Amino acid sequence: MGHLLSKSKYIRGLQCDRALWLDVFNPRLARYSAEQMRRFGHGRDFEYAFKSTFPDGIDISAELKRNVDAYPARTAELLDKGDGLALFEAGFQYDDVLVLADVVRQREDGSLDIYEVKSGTTLSETYKRDAALQHYIIAHCRRVNSFSIVYNGLDGVNGANGQDGRFMIIDLTEALAAEAGTIARNLAAMKDILAHGEPATPTGQHCLTPYACPYQHYCAQGVRQTSLFG
Ligand code: SF4
Repeated sequence: MGHLLSKSKYIRGLQCDRALWLDVFNPRLARYSAEQMRRFGHGRDFEYAFKSTFPDGIDISAELKRNVDAYPARTAELLDKGDGLALFEAGFQYDDVLVLADVVRQREDGSLDIYEVKSGTTLSETYKRDAALQHYIIAHCRRVNSFSIVYNGLDGVNGANGQDGRFMIIDLTEALAAEAGTIARNLAAMKDILAHGEPATPTGQHCLTPYACPYQHYCAQGVRQTSLFG
């Protein structure tokens, strides 16, 4: 079963309706700077370091590679027969939205402890919005026991779970669950945007916050994509 939205598209959509539309219908227009690419690489290194603290983890992405639409079925298969499994990049899909969880640990009662890994050194609002979407989708598929964000405790003080104390782990389960209504409304609004033609959203301060939009060069040209929707 294919998906319409993902975590990254949802976050893009919170920043700009036009950026969401382009991400779905014309992502080849995106341009990322060398600095943005370097940051992506750093984020992956931190994520791998945290995953290495689960030596029994099964990496679904290693098995299915880019076939992300197959992740939810494989995840369900493993969770249904597994016992105390740790999964990396576990897939869950609900309401046409696919999310991949960085680390999922199945408890004895079958409920899940979920860890979303972020390489930043502070707990940003964007991290929380990203986690709230994941919690919303996963909670419609499985019983969630806890949902934590793991971020970078650079100084190694008060760290938890990691051998070197870098990993700051904060349990946000209750706060994320309280966002369910907001998430449902946002998803409905985004689907409405995607059911129409490219929005004529003008450029502005929002093009830089919270992330530098990769479509700035395109929007600066003042043209819009023709689309099936007109
Ligand atoms: S450059 Fe600005 S207006 Fe254009 S898609 Fe990005 S955020 Fe939206």
